[in-house]
Amino acid sequence: MRAIDRQIIANTARRLVANKRTRRRTGLYPLANLFLFITMRCNAKCDHCFCWQDLNIGIPELTLEQVDRLAETVPPFDILILTGGEPTLRRDLPEVLAAFAKRRKASVLRINTNALFPDKLVRMAEDFKAEFPDVGIDFQISLDGLRETHDRIRGVPGNFDKVIESLRKLWPLQEKYPAVAVNVLTIINSMNYRELVELNDLLRREVSPAVYQGFEIMRDVNRTAWNILPEIREANVAPKSNMDLPPVEDFPKIVADLERINEGSPYRADAYRLHTIATLRMIATGKPQFPCVTAGSAVGVIYSNGDVAHCEFTKPFANLAQFDFDFSALWQSEAAWERRGQIRCCHCTHGSFHGKAVEYSWRGIAGMVRQAL
Ligand code: SF4
Ligand code: SF4
Repeated sequence: MRAIDRQIIANTARRLVANKRTRRRTGLYPLANLFLFITMRCNAKCDHCFCWQDLNIGIPELTLEQVDRLAETVPPFDILILTGGEPTLRRDLPEVLAAFAKRRKASVLRINTNALFPDKLVRMAEDFKAEFPDVGIDFQISLDGLRETHDRIRGVPGNFDKVIESLRKLWPLQEKYPAVAVNVLTIINSMNYRELVELNDLLRREVSPAVYQGFEIMRDVNRTAWNILPEIREANVAPKSNMDLPPVEDFPKIVADLERINEGSPYRADAYRLHTIATLRMIATGKPQFPCVTAGSAVGVIYSNGDVAHCEFTKPFANLAQFDFDFSALWQSEAAWERRGQIRCCHCTHGSFHGKAVEYSWRGIAGMVRQAL
């Protein structure tokens, strides 16, 4: 086994032991990932977007003052994921980052972006590093296919070229500064599943052989989630009607392609890769793969209007405004605990939770070892 894989697995196992100890003591895993939908404005029109019905309809956004209060009251955690909508459309995004960075609340601040503004991303990274050299900043760039496919899925001509430009400009910052990371995320769907290997080859050629590309299956509460109680199910979390999952009969080919990509990856043991393959099994059989233990515990979701949910497939249970924007008070509230009791019987492919679930089970860690050998 390669040293890097051994190191990833050992760190994951150590974290799991510590996290289980905390859960025994407090009833919850320590908060690890917090998703913050910082805006519901977007400049793309993706066919696979699971929140397209909420975009650009004037949903309110947390003010900077409210974000500041959130950053003050949240316990320290691993990764703040700024998402939306397109986070870079918020002019005060640097101030949002600073609110968490100055308090050292998250080890890494991640920006999920469609990368339509390459220079803005580079400027933001440079400015952030000048002020907070020791806080991690991570760019997760969406790329869903080769040029024609990507632009068609995203509904934005020229988006593919902007993504490649962004990747080429951001990539060298990882050498220049500590704690900068650049990743690519591809959402697998009926339009792009045939070109995954070609896309990965292109990234290695055009950006770097060390490029990290994660994959996730398109989210759809109707087709990739099971047994959510009807009263808490978020019925609108689904793509546009022209977008489908790849056909089940082609899943073996997708698994083979992902394994081939994984073979050449610098991080072969990665839990996220294991999760992607397991989700295909889940869709094909309808059976759970790794138990969802992180929603409402290690992972939480905050929407741009202050609503809070344990995951995006279930309805919000409270709004930050009810708790004077004190996240810890909300997270320990009766409503939060009641909802935790309601999400014990469901399972789904949602990568933000299922991906994490791999790291929170010994079966997942055993799978990571097998993957690395
Ligand atoms: S997937 Fe992201 S970039 Fe695409 S429309 Fe939805 S919010 Fe915008
Ligand atoms: S993320 Fe977890 S809690 Fe939410 S629907 Fe999926 S399995 Fe249920």
